[in-house]
Amino acid sequence: MQAIKPQVSLKELTTFKVDSNADGFLQLDSVDDIIECLSQIQQYDQRLVLGGGSNILMVGDYSGLILYPQLFGINLLDESDNDVLVAVAASENWHNWVLHSSQQGWHGLENLALIPGTVGAAPIQNIGAYGVEVEQFIDYVEYIDLDSGVQHLKKQRECEFAYRDSFFKKAGQGRYLVTQVVFRLLKQPQLNLTYQPLASYFEDKPSVNPADLIERVCEIRRSKLPDPELIPNAGSFFKNPVVAESVYEQLKQSHPDLVAYPVDEGFKLAAGWLIEKAGFKGVKEGDVGVHTQQALVLVNYGETDGRKIWQLAEKIQQSVLQQFGVVLEAEVRIEGRQA
Ligand SMILES: Cc1cc2nc3c(=O)[nH]c(=O)nc-3n(C[C@H](O)[C@H](O)[C@H](O)COP(=O)(O)OP(=O)(O)OC[C@H]3O[C@@H](n4cnc5c(N)ncnc54)[C@H](O)[C@@H]3O)c2cc1C
Repeated sequence: MQAIKPQVSLKELTTFKVDSNADGFLQLDSVDDIIECLSQIQQYDQRLVLGGGSNILMVGDYSGLILYPQLFGINLLDESDNDVLVAVAASENWHNWVLHSSQQGWHGLENLALIPGTVGAAPIQNIGAYGVEVEQFIDYVEYIDLDSGVQHLKKQRECEFAYRDSFFKKAGQGRYLVTQVVFRLLKQPQLNLTYQPLASYFEDKPSVNPADLIERVCEIRRSKLPDPELIPNAGSFFKNPVVAESVYEQLKQSHPDLVAYPVDEGFKLAAGWLIEKAGFKGVKEGDVGVHTQQALVLVNYGETDGRKIWQLAEKIQQSVLQQFGVVLEAEVRIEGRQA
């Protein structure tokens, strides 16, 4: 069992790579470790479970306890003619798991290749890309309630999955620690080519197999998204806003090229389009900026103060609100705000 370390730098543990020190930092190497450390963990009111740090912006030091699970292992639990049930520990790398599952002949996750981060974080914001959301392939999630110390299992339908949202995310930071995610994957691939660029790419190919799809998804992502190892970022900074049909109709009248698509609650607007139209694509302010290829991604060109990134984000939010009357909500978790 490891001890709580004081004043640990989070700079290299988050993909925005800004300065931030945590008051306390606790690495947890097993589920038993977590249970043994509970009373120490519970002494902190403010807690944050850290995975790969690819969806977090630190805007100051963290005056609480960072929990850093290091839980590994992939286990085939059950198998039928059609599918497999596989338990994957929280700290496994997401992309490696996608590759591994496909190599084993377990299918469904192809479109989610190359998303950074860990398996344990995937259900938190219900990661999604190119027409697929992870909720479609989760059977249940195992987690520990850090307030009570009780270990739970939540079936997929109880996880309250929605667009970049879940029961775990709604509960706020530091309450639940996901220990493993159990996936139900298909033995016969049913490739999802609903995302237009995938459909048009494979249109004239005689056949497409899961490995081809993974390769194409990776190519598209590499061409559009900055590699956090080279240009620190946290992917899409904002969620695509969902508006009522009446709001969409009004906007479409004044902006015929508006990019949006229908969803149950109305229309989902492309936040990248709004940001680009507001004039921010490729903008650089000091050492922070908006990516030149993808307006939804804020990038760090060498800034050490996360507040500068947040300031640019707020400026974008205000400008989009003024120009379109639409509220942009951060997808990235903002942490380290001082009270
Ligand atoms: C270049 C780039 C591209 C991206 N593309 C996409 C994309 O296409 N689709 C998409 O959905 N996301 C995308 N993201 C965002 C990010 O990769 C995902 O949100 C990912 O799931 C975060 O994983 P992580 O391990 O880095 O989580 P972290 O950033 O460490 O944490 C994110 C949240 O999850 C919580 N958390 C992490 N692990 C656990 C755990 N074991 N138990 C409980 N809570 C936990 C944290 O407390 C925090 O609230 C992208 C990010 C980057 C940098």
